Amino acid sequence: MNPPSFYLQLVNPEHPVLWRPSENQLCAFHPGFPHILLEACAARSLAALLEELDAFGEIVPVSGYRPRAMQQEIWDDTVQKQGLDYARQYVAIPGCSEHETGLAIDLAANRPEIDFICPEFPWDGIYGRFRRMAPEYGWILRYPAGKEAITRISSEPWHFRYVGTPHARILSEQGLVLEEYLAGDPGLPLWNGPRPAAGRRS
Ligand SMILES: [Zn+2]
Repeated sequence: MNPPSFYLQLVNPEHPVLWRPSENQLCAFHPGFPHILLEACAARSLAALLEELDAFGEIVPVSGYRPRAMQQEIWDDTVQKQGLDYARQYVAIPGCSEHETGLAIDLAANRPEIDFICPEFPWDGIYGRFRRMAPEYGWILRYPAGKEAITRISSEPWHFRYVGTPHARILSEQGLVLEEYLAGDPGLPLWNGPRPAAGRRS
């Protein structure tokens, strides 16, 4: 049984991951990518959305659930290959990545070459339809352009986060990011965890 506020948990540089799914709570959602997992409800709703759009061939997952050790590997590898500034811009510090909750997915257009850190997920066509329908299925674009001062993460058109319904629809209709949504309603559970012990990211 998940904690009631699990799907709304805030994960950002000030709020490390407090709840991680166990292995039996993780599921694949895309038949072509059985190794990419999400928390079960998130997986079911994303599969339903892709099914509705008939988009399994055009929209592919790049990265879903990551254990903390994998986030550390991605961080270390990105720092080594592309430098600390780039890593700070696009990779969350280990312990503070939404991917560690199983509620986040990076999606890409199905093309021969896909960038693992910054995949291309266009705004038009089926990708635009995906974005418009996502909130009805509980998914939001987590790091929109123009909200960087609040999220403190660069715009990431490929990173989607499951918060469930009706929250995703309200967030989308009101143009809010999760930080604003949780701060605006004291009745909603804000996961105020301890500050990360070390490290900062942009
Ligand atoms: Zn991501």
